[in-house]
Parts: sequence; C-alpha cells; structure tokens
Amino acid sequence: MASLIFEHLKKVYPNGFVSVDDVSLSIEDGEFVVFHGPSGCGKSTILRMIGGLEDITSGKIYLDNTFLNDILPRDRKLAMAFQNYALYKYMNVYDNMALGLKLRDLPRTVINTRVKTAAAFLGISDILTKKIRSISDSERQRVALGRAIVCHPKVLLVDEDFAHQNDDLRKDMIHDILKINKELGITVLYVTNNYEEAVSLNSRVIFMKDGKVIEDSI
Ligand code: ADP
Ligand code: ADP
Repeated sequence: MASLIFEHLKKVYPNGFVSVDDVSLSIEDGEFVVFHGPSGCGKSTILRMIGGLEDITSGKIYLDNTFLNDILPRDRKLAMAFQNYALYKYMNVYDNMALGLKLRDLPRTVINTRVKTAAAFLGISDILTKKIRSISDSERQRVALGRAIVCHPKVLLVDEDFAHQNDDLRKDMIHDILKINKELGITVLYVTNNYEEAVSLNSRVIFMKDGKVIEDSI
C-alpha cells in the first residue's frame, strides 16, 4: 500500500519563484527514498511541505489515503530530523527524547518504555542522564533521531543539512537511518545533493531539477 502520494504538487513562493513544479509520486510503506539533485532544485521544499512547515500552493499530499490537511499535525505520524538537531542544550538526553511524547500526554510508563527502547536501539542508553551540551556531535545526532522514532512515525524525513558537518557524522547518520528503515519498517525520505552518496545507498533515487522530477530509479 502506498503510504505517501503526491499529486501535482506545486510550490510558488510569494516572489513568483516556482520551487516545486508539478511533482506526482507514490511512495510505498517501508521504502527508503533518496531525493537527489543540485542545490536549489526543490528537494527541501518537498520535505517541508510534507512536514507541514511550508504551505502547499497547489496539488495534494495523501498519507495513508487521507488528505494530509485533514489529519491533525499531531496525528500525522511523520517525524522530521532537523538541521542542527534542535535539541535543548541544558536538558538531558532523556528529557529531549521524551519531549514530544510529553506534549502528547502519554502516560509516564509508556514514555519511559519508548525512550529506553529507542535509546537501546541507537546505542545511547548510557548517556540518558547527560546534558546535551556535554555530549559529542555523534551522540547528539543519535539523540535527534531517537527523539524522532519515539513517536513511532510511519515516515521519517531527513534533510542532508542534518549531518553536513563531516563525513564521519554523515556515515553514522546514514547507518542509523538505514537501520531505522530496515529494522523498524519506517519509511525514510532522505534529501541529498551528493551524487556518490545518493547512488551508494542502493535505494530508489528520485532525481530533481528546477523543481521537477526528471528521473525516478524505481
Ligand atoms: P534544495 O533543497 O533542492 O537545495 P530548496 O527546496 O531549499 O532546494 O529551494 C528551492 C528553491 O526555492 C531555491 O532556489 C531557493 O532559493 C528557493 N526558495 C526557497 N525559499 C524561498 C522563499 N522563501 N522565497 C523565494 N524562493 C525561495
Ligand atoms: P517528569 O514527568 O516530572 O519529568 P519523569 O518520571 O518522567 O518525571 O522523570 C523524572 C526525571 O528523571 C526526568 O526528567 C529524567 O531526566 C529522569 N529519568 C526518568 N526516567 C529515566 C530513565 N529511564 N533513564 C534516565 N533518566 C530518567
């Protein structure tokens, strides 16, 4: 079953610039999809529209056969890994990972189990009580992914900026998101302008140029 469908998706900025131009795609449950293309081709705009951070000018996005705008943001089962992680430096790892769940008013025992399970999955169980400012970039990256998966999303959206600092961090991140995809069955949409990386992932690659999909490797 297709978990995400875009129909004639279009984004025109107020200055008239067409950033995404008539994109139609169907993404199945559990797929790992790479969006690739030169800087400025509209990849991040697509991710931001799915994530609800950007208005859609025209066209439609469906999640599980439901028009995205008809699903309350908290019920959308989408998680986004943000640039520079957006972690709270003076809070500990546990609280950063639990934050989204607390906002959903889940019982404390459920929150605790989910945070511990995600931490074990990502190999960060031993740093739960450490403050973000005292852990490494590699650990911060895993905390940010942990915060995304504790919400049990169906779809994880990852922008390349998420790990642009250095090659090692990028490799770790790719290892982690592949594991999240394979072992948890979460659909991953990953944006990159690095060609070598895009093809090395051995996954479906959607090539974009000037806001349009010019090739879909499926
Ligand atoms: P990519 O992720 O492929 O590098 P983006 O989706 O970030 O590209 O941006 C696509 C294009 O839209 C770029 O040319 C960018 O300059 C333009 N753009 C982004 N935000 C705005 C805005 N608020 N107003 C006008 N143009 C914008
Ligand atoms: P509250 O809902 O008041 O934040 P919690 O019982 O969720 O209380 O947690 C209290 C504090 O104990 C949290 O802020 C967190 O830092 C820490 N904590 C709770 N559970 C764990 C755990 N499994 N591992 C590490 N720290 C934890």
